[in-house]
Order: sequence, then C-alpha cells, then structure tokens
Amino acid sequence: MHSRRSFLRIASTSAAALPFLPSLIQARSSAPSAANFETLRRGVGTFTGQGGTIGWMVRNDRAIVIDSQVPQSAQTCWDGIAERSRGGLDLFINTHHHGDHTGGNEVFAAHTDRLLAHANVPELQRAASGDDSTPTYPTETYSEQWSKRLGDETVRLHHYGPAHTGGDTVIHFAEANVAHVGDLVFNRVYPFIDIDGGALTTNWINTLETLHDTFDDDTIVIHGHGAPDAGITGGRADLLVMRDFLAGLNEFVAAALEEGQSVDEIASQEQLPGFEAYAREDWPLPLEACLRAVHREQTGGGNA
Ligand SMILES: [Zn+2]
Repeated sequence: MHSRRSFLRIASTSAAALPFLPSLIQARSSAPSAANFETLRRGVGTFTGQGGTIGWMVRNDRAIVIDSQVPQSAQTCWDGIAERSRGGLDLFINTHHHGDHTGGNEVFAAHTDRLLAHANVPELQRAASGDDSTPTYPTETYSEQWSKRLGDETVRLHHYGPAHTGGDTVIHFAEANVAHVGDLVFNRVYPFIDIDGGALTTNWINTLETLHDTFDDDTIVIHGHGAPDAGITGGRADLLVMRDFLAGLNEFVAAALEEGQSVDEIASQEQLPGFEAYAREDWPLPLEACLRAVHREQTGGGNA
C-alpha cells in the first residue's frame, strides 16, 4: 500500500495519462444496438458499445449495471436494461475511474441514487477530469470488500490493492458465478498501465493469481477489453494469460536495465518476446507505453 501522501501526488498528475482513453473508447466504435447485449448466465450479461465492457444483472425485477462507457452508448445500454427490468435500477457500480468506464455515469445516475465504487475512485476521477468537465461521482464507497443480497443473487465487491489503477473493484455474482474484473484483464492485447492513476504491476500480477485461485473452472469472467478475436468474456485461465504478459514485461525491462539500456532503448522494442501476437494493427494501445510504465515502476517513479 502506498501512503496518503504518495496517493495525492499520483492523483494530481493523472490527467497526463488521459491521451490513451479516447483511443480505447474508439477501439470498438460500431454503433451500439440491441445486438450488443449478451446474456451469460442467471440473468447476468454484457453490453459492448464504445469503451470498456458493461456488465449487468436483470433478474426477478432486480437490476444492476457495472460501468457506463460514454453517454451515447450508456443511453443505448440503459434503454435495453429498462426494457428488460421494467425501468428499475437497484445498483450501479464502477470497476474503476477511467473515462471509458465512467463517462456515461450520468445516464444511470438518473435512475438510481446508489452509485458504488472503491474509496479511491472519487479523488482519481477529480484528478483525471481536468477543469472543463464534472464527473458523476459515486454516492457510496467501500475500502476492502462489500456484499449484498439482491433477490436470489449475492453481489460481492472486492478491492485487492493497486493494480490497473489505485481504485479497482472486482464484482462477483456468487450464485451465477460470473465475475466482472474490469481492466484487470485486457484479453490478449497491450494494456493501459496507468502509473499516474495508481497502477502497480507487481501487485496486479499478485491480484490475478489470487483471483485465479478464488474462482473455479465454472466461473465466467468478464474482461474490460479484449482482442476482437479473443473476446471480452472467458474463464479463469485468461487471468493467468494476463499475468504472464505483465510478468514477461517486468522480466524484459529488468533484464534490459541490467544490461544498462536507456529508457528510450527499452521503449523502442517492437514486440515482447513470447507475446508477438499482441502487436496488431487493430489495437490502439502501444507496447511502448507499457515498457515506459514498467521502467518507471522499476526505477522508483511508480507506486511501489
Ligand atoms: Zn482502465
């Protein structure tokens, strides 16, 4: 855990990381429609539009939505949820503060006064929003875990420390055995490592291993992002694929530092050995940013 003081320093500079968020929003830019809804199990499913994957549960007149993408696709998502849920929204949850997951919060805030996120999210939202926009903040936060029985489903939230950001939440629908892990998994594509927003890849690796051990072979895992041919849902094995990428990145940077390479030399690497398939034309985030982030973490400029 980092100190309050270092958290404030991190938060105050996180706007610098924003250039990557518009590209993530555009990564899946097809117009959202009813076809973007997919049911997984026991009334729990996904919605894909523009930005990070939205998760939802509609069952026995109860409705929960996880993440909000951007206003336009959030509205399309809400219209579909409202049709299925007769208009009620019991709970809205953000997996973390990034704009491609919180940009449509206001759409859902119009239908529930219960917006839930990790305790670090409001400050990270504030720091990342700049002067010309006002984020829709959570109305309720938690620190380590939170759970609630809703109808015949149990919803569990857990924060495992800094990983993709300083305020990540994993949501597990216990009876459905479906988990939304937010951006802890970029499924077989280069991830966004937001050091300014509190990311810590060493604990991200630990978290993925913990989640793998917590879930079972039947668990359906919803990912924040994924390669078009790999998808945004899968199983717990995907957690270890993501773990292996982050570990490979750390090993590569450590070896290069050992050889005395400069940050620019390290960042000029075009492919990560063992992960050549991640270098693809249809994905907006570059390996270079991953290498620079891990270099920063390993040389004391991160959140360790
Ligand atoms: Zn993110």
